[in-house]
Amino acid sequence: MSTTRLPSRVEPYKLAARSERLEGLVPLADLARLTEEVGPQNGDLWVTLDFAIDAQGRRVIHGRLAADLQLPCRRCLSPMAQHVESEFLLGMVSSDDLAAELPSTHEPVLVEDEQLNLLTVVEDELILSLPQVVYHEEADCEVSRDQLTSGEGATASRGPAASPFDVLKHLKGKS
Ligand SMILES: [Zn+2]
Repeated sequence: MSTTRLPSRVEPYKLAARSERLEGLVPLADLARLTEEVGPQNGDLWVTLDFAIDAQGRRVIHGRLAADLQLPCRRCLSPMAQHVESEFLLGMVSSDDLAAELPSTHEPVLVEDEQLNLLTVVEDELILSLPQVVYHEEADCEVSRDQLTSGEGATASRGPAASPFDVLKHLKGKS
């Protein structure tokens, strides 16, 4: 796995003409819209982008991304670890009219002045691939834990080593 940073701005037509592959990391903390959606994140987004001209003469980007995120549990709002990955196919277009001509297998990406902001593109893709709803297993969730411990006998069966809960508390305190 590469540890270089993904360049933020590229000239995608040239990359496609040369069938180049870009691979690199994007610090998750740099992605402001992601932070807005799911809270501050540590670590990196891993990205591979293969630029190409396909048999139909379209300039395309075949991309893959992966990240380990801390997403808020919908029930208790504590962060929980979630691995997110996605694969996508982008068709470069220079206008909205051309975007309409792309087959449904391709997502349009608008190239202006032969430039492309890769950070915007990969952040869009990451946000699109977030799971809609995440929540802990009932045994690990603070909400159900509170409900359980208020019931009779729940603490006895539970024992002291509710470790996923402790780990999450720890993570929460650090962020
Ligand atoms: Zn929870």
